[in-house]
Amino acid sequence: MENCTEQTEKTTDCTTKPQTLPSWKVSQIILTVVNLLSEEGYFREGFDYMEMIRKKGIVLKEYSAFKSENLLELQKVSIGLWNEGLCLIFPDPQTGATCRMIAYNDNKSAAEVMQIIFHELAHIMLRHTQQSNLGEMEATLFSGVAMLLMVLEQQFHIGRMIAEKGDKTMLKGIQKGLMQKFNAQEVL
Ligand SMILES: [Zn+2]
Repeated sequence: MENCTEQTEKTTDCTTKPQTLPSWKVSQIILTVVNLLSEEGYFREGFDYMEMIRKKGIVLKEYSAFKSENLLELQKVSIGLWNEGLCLIFPDPQTGATCRMIAYNDNKSAAEVMQIIFHELAHIMLRHTQQSNLGEMEATLFSGVAMLLMVLEQQFHIGRMIAEKGDKTMLKGIQKGLMQKFNAQEVL
């Protein structure tokens, strides 16, 4: 009769299941990134992703431009949860127009900065309105796809080759493949 008194059987909280993104959401995010970067001509010589973002009326700021105590306050109201970047959407106190700002840890390599900025951009493009773990997963996927496209362009000029051929074969192919695989048409 050993162990009979031991009633503290591990009651691990089964309520915290790992979250995953539904496949249609994955498809939607991949297509959003492919469409965004293609439309903005990411394959063109001298393409500057920061410029692309600024042209959308989004303000880009470096962390080093803020006092650290202000940064901590801003992180509380950021739509994102990742500490390396901030995403703020707020009404202009004078005009009431919607202001959008991304701030990023500039004490990082160029590739890391790009990853942070695309992650924060995702919160805006995917119309997130509050902090959530699901939102973080979506933003991480968004920035991963964007980084992949940028690296493929840098290394192999895949987007430029397609643009020079004057068709959108790759884009169409991705679109078709995703729609078939994940039945994504209902959300696009
Ligand atoms: Zn985030």
